[in-house]
Amino acid sequence: MGRRRRRKVIRTFRRTIPKVYTCPQCGKRTVTVQMIKEANIAHVACGTCKISGDITLSEGMTAVDAYCTWYDEAISGKRLEELKQGNLGEG
Ligand SMILES: [Zn+2]
Repeated sequence: MGRRRRRKVIRTFRRTIPKVYTCPQCGKRTVTVQMIKEANIAHVACGTCKISGDITLSEGMTAVDAYCTWYDEAISGKRLEELKQGNLGEG
């Protein structure tokens, strides 16, 4: 008696690009990229710590590219400085 075992073929299919990205500041996966084609910019914003910025789109740039550009700026301090200015509570 031979049992037939069917091997399940796991197909790797194209996944849609994730819509949320990791935040360089708070580390949460709540960063969204909004492509505003009319203005040729991408609006990147974190839903947790509210850090945000607009990235000018170059030809062929996708949401991921815009996110990477924004991320670089954020970790290099450009965006964080902007955020600190409105968040200073020294006293
Ligand atoms: Zn954040």
